[in-house]
Amino acid sequence: MEPTRTEFLFMPGPLPKLLFYTLTFASLGWMVWQFVAMARTWRRGKPDEPKRPWWPEVASLILGQRKVQGSRPKGGGPMHLLIFYGFMALLMATTLLALATYAPMVGLPNWHKGAYYLAFEATFDVLGACFVAGCAWALFRRLGVGRPATLQGDRTDVAALVILFTCGLTGYLLEAARIAADPHPWDVWSPVGYGLSPILGQLAPSAYVGLWWFHMAWVWAFFVMLPRMRLRHLVVATVTAANRPARAMGALAKVSMEQVEATGKVGAVETGDLTRWHLTSLDACMECGRCTEVCPANGVGKTLDPRGIVQGIRAAEGNPLLEKLTEDDLWACTTCHACVEACPVSIRHVDLIVDVRRNLVAEGKLAGPQAVMLRQVGSTGHAWGQPVSEREQWMKGLNVPLCREGQPFDFLLWVGCAGATDPGAVKTTKAVATLLQWAGVSFACLGQEEACTGDPARRTGDEFTFQELAGQNANVFAKYGVTKVVTACPHCFNSLKNEYGDFGSQMEVLHHSQLLARLVREGRLAPADVPGGVTLHDPCYLARVNDEADAPRALLGAETDFNRDVSLFVRENLHPLPVASQLVEPAHHAQRTLCCGAGGGRMWADDAPGQRPADRRAEELLATGAETVAVACPFCRIMLDPALTGKTRVADVAELLLEANRQP
Ligand code: SF4
Ligand code: SF4
Repeated sequence: MEPTRTEFLFMPGPLPKLLFYTLTFASLGWMVWQFVAMARTWRRGKPDEPKRPWWPEVASLILGQRKVQGSRPKGGGPMHLLIFYGFMALLMATTLLALATYAPMVGLPNWHKGAYYLAFEATFDVLGACFVAGCAWALFRRLGVGRPATLQGDRTDVAALVILFTCGLTGYLLEAARIAADPHPWDVWSPVGYGLSPILGQLAPSAYVGLWWFHMAWVWAFFVMLPRMRLRHLVVATVTAANRPARAMGALAKVSMEQVEATGKVGAVETGDLTRWHLTSLDACMECGRCTEVCPANGVGKTLDPRGIVQGIRAAEGNPLLEKLTEDDLWACTTCHACVEACPVSIRHVDLIVDVRRNLVAEGKLAGPQAVMLRQVGSTGHAWGQPVSEREQWMKGLNVPLCREGQPFDFLLWVGCAGATDPGAVKTTKAVATLLQWAGVSFACLGQEEACTGDPARRTGDEFTFQELAGQNANVFAKYGVTKVVTACPHCFNSLKNEYGDFGSQMEVLHHSQLLARLVREGRLAPADVPGGVTLHDPCYLARVNDEADAPRALLGAETDFNRDVSLFVRENLHPLPVASQLVEPAHHAQRTLCCGAGGGRMWADDAPGQRPADRRAEELLATGAETVAVACPFCRIMLDPALTGKTRVADVAELLLEANRQP
């Protein structure tokens, strides 16, 4: 007799089969009906934006588990991988078994026997055990063994894990019972069930049949309960991954006047003002708390809780969002995207927060220094309200070419509001201009023709001031035929690179560290050699939002490989770095950097003592023991300077590079 196993063992006649199929289709039908009802609520949102190709997203996020792997230091990542891959293995095993069982209905032989059967049993028996182990691990964790403080949970979570665990465990007990009641020489190929079978001893067929129905009852309960439990992310996260917006992480969606006229409102007031994709993503949230764990505002004791924002919006269900959210929490966000980066189901918290802010700003609910900033930037085109004449003061004695002088240039050196007038940031601007001159790079500045990119206005929620400034700058770019831009401000860099395309500006935009690193790699500049050790504070809008963490390190002579998208900082055919400063990484670095607290317009907000993200970050940087803190953003420098002055040296990577080079 060929190795195989009998389906519906000890259950002769049509009745057991009839009951099995009726209950299976009924529970599956109920599950599908609930998901369809959920999808109807998603359809109440605004139409979606252009999407990314679906299959790489699904492959990377769902099958590759990119966001889960290593994302949490306390065991959550490996535990999730055991459950996920174990579950997928069991799903595949069930599908293969069903195909083989029903093959005779289309004239094919049932192939679930012989060598195939033995390989099937050995493979899926082991993989399924991973699922049971993962569920047991998760259950212990939920019940308090090694549970992270931010992991919330209610009885539904425990119930979900009990259902999953029991489905898996009873599956193995059933296998052991089958081996005990109907032994065969090939049962050794089902190692887990074979190992368990002696525990059950001699088993009556009726006991096996009872266990069979008990196991199936848990499986049917799983189907029925799935849409009601956070476990629904198995399905919903796949839908969100397949429909992910093409918009870059750092780009906010543009609001048109036509939209405002059609809806009579600016920004999001209730859930129906969000896109369908955003509404779907809310249902994918599994309340894991990763976003809250990494939130810099939450980390300094503010009540902002990105998970709470997602759950609050979800709970609003067509009612005003502010019934579930607080204005203080919405204003506290620095738009650092740490939550977005950490979220395993790719929820875009910043889109949601800024969309509600837009409405608050339109309703005149913003007061204080951030409101002053909006008025200043709207009236002067400078975020600190400086007159345009101040934009050329830093150039004195440097012989910096201006676009209006009419000479051809390769790069527009975009200076930014801080870069033109803040004393610390001006040092960076001067260093960049000098280094470009020494390296023979053709560039020019706009001087008085430059206005704020509008980044602080947009992220504070003043969409139309941003659009006005972006339109004005885009016209100037077109006037001078600008095709390449370099800037020392990651906020300007992000906006020009990812958002100005909506205003007709198609340009290659580089952060100064990228262009300077290219010059170092080409041997046109020497890398910095900083004595006494140096640590780097990665700006959120460079390292995380735009995936560039290698270029600033290259300026310090450090070879690193943090960038996920190597196209941003091309290494091929370039010189190896000749000198290495002693670079000491702080606890949070590269894409997982810790925000200084300046983004999202928070630069202009007042934080209570003890609630300043910059102080927390400064402590971390000082803990490295490095004598120099290198920065790569004028906003970071302004925020960190007060906390670091007198304790260590703060300098932009361009200034450190300048010190290592000489005028040719
Ligand atoms: S939003 Fe994302 S990271 Fe935050 S709790 Fe939900 S699934 Fe987890
Ligand atoms: S963007 Fe940053 S500050 Fe805002 S909620 Fe997310 S983690 Fe917190």
